[in-house]
Amino acid sequence: MKTDITLKSVYQARQRIAPVIRKTPLVRSTILSEKQGGEVCLKLENLQETGSFKLRGAANALLALTPEQKTQGVLAFSTGNHGRAVAWVARELGVSCTICLSQRVPSYRVEAMKSFGAEVVQEGASQDEAYDTALALEKDRGLTMVKPFDDPLVIAGQGTMGLEILEQQPGIDTLVVPVSGGGLAAGLARVIKAADPAITVIGVSMEVAPAMYHSIRAGKPVEVAEKDSLADALLGGIGLDNAYTYPMVVKYLDRIDLVSETEIEAGMAFAYDHQGILIEGAAAVTLSWLLKHQSPGKTTVGILSGGNVDTQTLLDILKRRQIPTN
Ligand SMILES: *Cc1c(COP(=O)(O)O)cnc(C)c1O
Repeated sequence: MKTDITLKSVYQARQRIAPVIRKTPLVRSTILSEKQGGEVCLKLENLQETGSFKLRGAANALLALTPEQKTQGVLAFSTGNHGRAVAWVARELGVSCTICLSQRVPSYRVEAMKSFGAEVVQEGASQDEAYDTALALEKDRGLTMVKPFDDPLVIAGQGTMGLEILEQQPGIDTLVVPVSGGGLAAGLARVIKAADPAITVIGVSMEVAPAMYHSIRAGKPVEVAEKDSLADALLGGIGLDNAYTYPMVVKYLDRIDLVSETEIEAGMAFAYDHQGILIEGAAAVTLSWLLKHQSPGKTTVGILSGGNVDTQTLLDILKRRQIPTN
């Protein structure tokens, strides 16, 4: 059974999705570079169309559909950003789209998907239950499922960001990347380690419900209970039937570290105060890590994976923080 993707599939993805995605900027952070005593650059996928990197994988999967599959329509389950990306590409291609979400997904995310014309089915208390709803609909309606992470086309799509990073910062020796289901980390690490196996790849998850972290410790995919987190896009299990991202994360990541809710909050405020950018909690874990740990390398790239943040949540965080004096 195949448990990995090829570099060739990432180049194919890049060509396929080029008309749909943006090449996002890689910017040097002066303050983090000073703090780390080396170069720190941030990959701004919060500026990707639909507000997250998920567009890369979704576009690659949808553009590879057969004409028959396009006529039947697509189906996805999601914590929000994958659904948004699938709905957006489906609309571009004129394909009908159904998205299954758990009741935990906040309404601002649901509204975005509906505004792109997707049919939203919101049921169940977790991403795993949304997956069950989707499996039932897949059978009933003959729709094609576009999985959020455990799919070779989706992983290859996310891997295209790795090709961009190598062109933008060929000196990279350390990569810091948020991890949930692991599609982003697996795709990126696959490309980065192919360029140079000595590059360190550090995954970051949130303390309250890190499914990949616990799975690695258990030696197999395990379920974790979902809890409220500022990094809501990192919620959800990795799938007990995980075929790709689990083995790839085990193979290509050097480690996964965890950050607290307080640290995620500090990361979000830091992005606003010092970088002039808005990111969501799932992307802030990268900054939480960079503010807390010494990078093992001299040229570090951190992934800011998305910017779809609830305005009230962000305002509350900015109100609570100490306003910086510089
Ligand atoms: C989905 C998502 C992640 C995690 O990606 P995985 O491929 O599930 O590990 C990180 N950040 C944002 C903004 C996301 O939407």
